[in-house]
Amino acid sequence: MMAYDLTLRALLERAATLFPKKEIISRDYSGTFRYTYGDFYKRVLRLANVLKDLDLSKGDRVATLAWNHHRHLELYFAVPLSGAVLHTLNLRLAPDQLIYIINHAEDKALFVDQDLLPLLESIRAQLPTVEHVVVMSDTEEIPANSLENPLSYETLLAAAGENIAFPDLSEWDPAAMCYTTATTGNPKGVVYTHRGLVLHSYAASIPDSLGLREADRVLPFVPMFHANAWGLPFACTWLGATQVFPGARPQAEDICQMIEKHRVTMAAGVPTIWMATYPLWANGQYDPSSLRELVCGGSAAPKSMIRNYREKLGLSVLHAYGMTETTPVALVSRPKSSMADWTEEEKYNIAAKQGLLVPGLEMKVVREDGLEVPWDGKTMGELLLRGPWIAKEYYKDPVRSRAAFAGGWLHTGDIVTVDPEGYVAIADRSKDLIKSGGEWISSLDLENTLMGHPAVLEAAVIAIPHPKWLERPLACVVLRPEFAGQVSQEDILDYLKGKVPKLWLPDRVEFLETIPRTSVGKFYKQALRQQFSESSAE
Ligand code: ADP
Repeated sequence: MMAYDLTLRALLERAATLFPKKEIISRDYSGTFRYTYGDFYKRVLRLANVLKDLDLSKGDRVATLAWNHHRHLELYFAVPLSGAVLHTLNLRLAPDQLIYIINHAEDKALFVDQDLLPLLESIRAQLPTVEHVVVMSDTEEIPANSLENPLSYETLLAAAGENIAFPDLSEWDPAAMCYTTATTGNPKGVVYTHRGLVLHSYAASIPDSLGLREADRVLPFVPMFHANAWGLPFACTWLGATQVFPGARPQAEDICQMIEKHRVTMAAGVPTIWMATYPLWANGQYDPSSLRELVCGGSAAPKSMIRNYREKLGLSVLHAYGMTETTPVALVSRPKSSMADWTEEEKYNIAAKQGLLVPGLEMKVVREDGLEVPWDGKTMGELLLRGPWIAKEYYKDPVRSRAAFAGGWLHTGDIVTVDPEGYVAIADRSKDLIKSGGEWISSLDLENTLMGHPAVLEAAVIAIPHPKWLERPLACVVLRPEFAGQVSQEDILDYLKGKVPKLWLPDRVEFLETIPRTSVGKFYKQALRQQFSESSAE
């Protein structure tokens, strides 16, 4: 076979030559922007010339502080194809963390959305490596700001030519990087190679995984700064699928509206967004009938939500699991054909698991002493992964790399069980696991069960210190508005009795207005632990 480097160039050129008339749709500041892959390609070529003129070359890090839109997609290709490294910044990080990651990555240029200028202005003085700031807005005009020499994206593109020869790249060259949202310590950087991104695009597309295809119209709600929007922009471009980008600050209503208007067939996001869109669809406000699947990942998709979507809306929710370190798709939960005659309940149980390993990866699940656990669906161990789109280290961080990648495996920090069919179920992140006496209690299982209660909108379960048992579970519960004040701790505990082992019954139930979220929309359990560990110690 030929020694053929797997680089992102082939993905872009396939879209440009085979699907020049297919569309990319983007919610702009001023309305809806649409263009074709043919026009997109020309702008990527212009952008590559802009990067060259800015003296951004092989290995230079180019940061983006941006929402999901077509300009961001142009950067997704122009930066890596120029040999530079696309560093997507999580715009919801605390300013201190942003400063840390920009300096740690030594970003040389930064492309920023116009509405995020105030955020950048507030930290600009502390970013000595950044030589150029380019502002992305709908026109050549950029809002007034205090930056020194900000450049306009549209002005630069208008002046650039389409003639460019991309440099020859190796598949092992870095193409992109992303930092994990650390809830403790500094964020950790993961560098993606061209090869990793191309192989991940294959893996994400196959029918038993996300099953993407040319006919799809895909809306990534998951941000382009969060593990490359789960790799969708790369895979969709390659396949020539229509891409629909939700733009700045998308709310549940915007998502429902765009799905209806642009006949979206597949949308991807964390469970919180699908929990928020559900009532808007259930009450008939918007029409979700174009959807063939909602991809749900990043944190556990509650079984009750999957069931509601199926039974009330006829929609299938595909549960997927991954991490920044895994590019990210690693597990996807589709039932096997042998399960066709299983009961509905059994099928929901499978759908609520994180699923089967996608082809191309290897996994093992080990106890603390390194021995593999039996696949009995009960015994918990840590999930270890390896494969061609799994990171091998953290960027410039040998100490944390040694622990996380020991023995050539990624130690995910996720505590899981594997059932006899090979389906992985996450019980907890190791730091969220509740260790009560000698027993491990899965906060995720408890949350899932709690969210099955008709009055419970959301539930997060945390460990609180206990003098005898070391740790005990505490349930934080948000009630549906119509049940506010009508449900007691006893009601909740009665509901759990018989559904979970007795020892798992939470010591306390706290009723909250909302559950705090991390920058990527996951339950921020550390904040809850701080709040309630302190109050339990009083
Ligand atoms: P961060 O670490 O910044 O939150 P990541 O996206 O890398 O961002 O988070 C990866 C973690 O998210 C996984 O290790 C796992 O704990 C959790 N996770 C991802 N997908 C799922 C899922 N489907 N169910 C439960 N947890 C998930």
